[in-house]
Amino acid sequence: MKIITTPDARLREKSSKVSKIDDEILGIIADMRKLSLDWEKDHPYELSAAMAAPQMGVNKRIIIIRDDMEDKKNATFTALINPEVIKAEGKIKTDYEGCLSVPSIYGMVPRATKVRVKAKLEDGTEVRIKATDELARTLLHEIDHLDGVLFIDHIKGVKDAFYKMDDKGDLIPVDYDTEIADNKKLWSEE
Ligand SMILES: [Zn+2]
Repeated sequence: MKIITTPDARLREKSSKVSKIDDEILGIIADMRKLSLDWEKDHPYELSAAMAAPQMGVNKRIIIIRDDMEDKKNATFTALINPEVIKAEGKIKTDYEGCLSVPSIYGMVPRATKVRVKAKLEDGTEVRIKATDELARTLLHEIDHLDGVLFIDHIKGVKDAFYKMDDKGDLIPVDYDTEIADNKKLWSEE
């Protein structure tokens, strides 16, 4: 198991619903937790906040969300199965996003600041989550993955929205026309 990156076509598929939470599904969730933390070991300036199953090439509707997105020492994640956005509301806010599957590129992405999501936990319990700000953004980003959508799609064509990280961990703007627009490593060939 490894994290797949653009332009891998599996990132662009619509994932199927999980009908039964069995050992296979629990195994996938365990792999996702492990891969997220492995990734973090190689990325000293970043925290692995969340991940969706398609990012390891498994097109099933499963995401994991870090329980504490501020503290790297807290390495626990909550898994959400068949998560669905019931409502996205509030102001639209633009903020930085990155993705394990879009290496070294970051973007300023507009998202709703308040969402309601329904999902199942690993033990089958149905939950409804009311999220704001950072958590709302993360949920929207991850649920997008289940429909084959990446954060870069939301800002395609926006000239001043893309950044990359330098070796000190600072984000610096990248030129859209030369580095993003026709970058075959970012966009799938259609
Ligand atoms: Zn992502």
